[in-house]
Amino acid sequence: MKTIGLLGGMSWESSAEYYRMINEQVRERLGGTHSARSIMLSVDFAEIEALQHQGRWDELAENMCTAARQLEQGGAHCIVICTNTMHHMAEQVQNSITIPLLHIADATAKQICSQKLQKVGLLGTEFTMKQDFYKGRLTEKFGLEVLIPDDKDCQTVHKIIYEELVSGIIREESRQQYRQIIRRLADKGAQAIILGCTEIMLLVSQDDSPVPVFDTTAIHATAAVDWALTDK
Ligand code: GLU
Repeated sequence: MKTIGLLGGMSWESSAEYYRMINEQVRERLGGTHSARSIMLSVDFAEIEALQHQGRWDELAENMCTAARQLEQGGAHCIVICTNTMHHMAEQVQNSITIPLLHIADATAKQICSQKLQKVGLLGTEFTMKQDFYKGRLTEKFGLEVLIPDDKDCQTVHKIIYEELVSGIIREESRQQYRQIIRRLADKGAQAIILGCTEIMLLVSQDDSPVPVFDTTAIHATAAVDWALTDK
């Protein structure tokens, strides 16, 4: 079994889910008392969030590259960045290490394509929904058509992530708002919804959507386990 390098803490609420899912899946697949070999480097999210909102992406990229190198030096065989937003600098991170980065959007898009779906709604931080690093990859590399909520709904989705979910605050009122936003995306033609922020699965699930949801946290964790257990 290979060692999974988890770049976490963004936020730790979802990193804890990654850790749990990865270990559960290794136990399920190998049985007995098996668990995953992993190393997690967990950052202070307050520093990250401040830099994101100031648009200081170069500094963030440097931080992520340093962290990824530390994981490699510590014995990780791959890097899993446990957040969608911080795939903003996926390319720089990959170029700074010699081990593979398992990209969250690639793992998600492969699942969507395998179900022959083409038009998807994307929920995530405003950075993920509005900038090109994520949507562009889904479109150019996988031929998906990506719909995002209107501006007001984007703000609501973003605010709930940063003011509630990253601090583990789960409110029924926010769940209802997400349900309505998902419904509006489905009405606009989305055949599926990408939960493109690793904390959204703490708030909504398949039960909250009229179309299939793709939970990036679970999909990415599974991709990491698949990779760690494959002999290549
Ligand atoms: N975990 C979130 C994501 O998947 C948001 C926190 C962050 O900005 O990294 O995008």
